[in-house]
Amino acid sequence: MMDKKNILIVGAGLAGSCLAQRLLELGHHITVLDKGENHATSVAAGMGNPMVFRRMNKSWRLDEFLPEAKEFYISLEKKLDTTLFHPITIRRLFSSEQERNSWVEKQNLPEFENYLSLITDEDNNYDRANNPFGSGRVKNAFWLDSEKFYQSNLLFFQKNGMLLKESFSLNDFNPEEGVYKGKNYDHIIFCCGYQNKELPFFAELPIQQTKGQTLAISSNEIPDNESLNRKCFVLPLGNSVFRIGATYEWNNYSLAPTDEGKELLLSNLNVIGDFKRTIMSQHAGVRPTVLDRRPILGKHPEFSKLFIFNGLGTKGYMMAPTLSREFANYLIDGITISKEISSERFI
Ligand SMILES: Cc1cc2nc3c(=O)[nH]c(=O)nc-3n(C[C@H](O)[C@H](O)[C@H](O)COP(=O)(O)OP(=O)(O)OC[C@H]3O[C@@H](n4cnc5c(N)ncnc54)[C@H](O)[C@@H]3O)c2cc1C
Repeated sequence: MMDKKNILIVGAGLAGSCLAQRLLELGHHITVLDKGENHATSVAAGMGNPMVFRRMNKSWRLDEFLPEAKEFYISLEKKLDTTLFHPITIRRLFSSEQERNSWVEKQNLPEFENYLSLITDEDNNYDRANNPFGSGRVKNAFWLDSEKFYQSNLLFFQKNGMLLKESFSLNDFNPEEGVYKGKNYDHIIFCCGYQNKELPFFAELPIQQTKGQTLAISSNEIPDNESLNRKCFVLPLGNSVFRIGATYEWNNYSLAPTDEGKELLLSNLNVIGDFKRTIMSQHAGVRPTVLDRRPILGKHPEFSKLFIFNGLGTKGYMMAPTLSREFANYLIDGITISKEISSERFI
């Protein structure tokens, strides 16, 4: 008979929720602890863009991550009884002739055929936005309703008696024994996102805080059948509402939306088009990022029951379904995780 583990997950953002769902699939006893201060998962645009336009390359491990993300989120929708996953086409408005050439070079290669549409006359002459160098359409992108993802996971954990709504209490924790508030756990996994440094166990790891801001606007002039992209993304949410994002701010750790952030997003939007629009709201959050752009998974060097799953960064929604499965397999069956994402690369 399978040995069922008692597992405590600290943090119910993207990392903690995906991991909890993966471990539940394997039949283990899960407790999720979250203090309800989420400023990344629920603020994110939740986009899964297959391409990195700067280098006109596929995003890291795309061919594995994308199909698994789609399958995972669609099956999660059924479990949580909600709608989360939305396929979308991204229209890249090229920023230079060179960028266009780079697309043209790649669009016929077999490894890009699932992602880059062949440029047509319509793409070259697209006139619903500024288009001086032409445009191209990315296939198989998606966006996930991030606020719903966070809230509906929390509700699920609560309904199933698995949620502790509180801040992790160091005074009630024995890290050697894995005992929290008198209960013995086989594994405790810290999924605290950018707040990682607030607890001592993995504070040495180089998880940085990268603030991001977005705007919600309404407009009847912006195309709502695809997501426009140049300098910023314009994500149609339905009913003439769009999300514009996002900023990248490295030396600003306040969670407050700023006028500078708003001005930057509006000036980026102006590069795409001079659309009549009304600003509805502004949001700010903080991404947990790592300099080498790879997440951090692994175990504590001293306390054998403690683990970390963090650093999901700017492409978290694409990566989390596969990485949470790999992490669950590592935790339960000891299947090695690759060096590229292991916390050991910093130890
Ligand atoms: C503006 C913005 C736009 C983004 N857009 C995208 C996008 O389009 N696509 C994409 O893939 N990614 C995007 N991201 C990145 C994405 O949001 C992150 O990769 C992801 O949400 C990180 O998830 P996480 O679970 O690691 O952290 P978090 O979401 O921060 O979750 C951590 C959780 O831990 C809890 N917690 C922390 N410390 C404690 C403690 N001591 N005790 C109890 N609970 C604790 C918090 O309450 C929180 O709920 C965006 C981020 C921002 C800010």
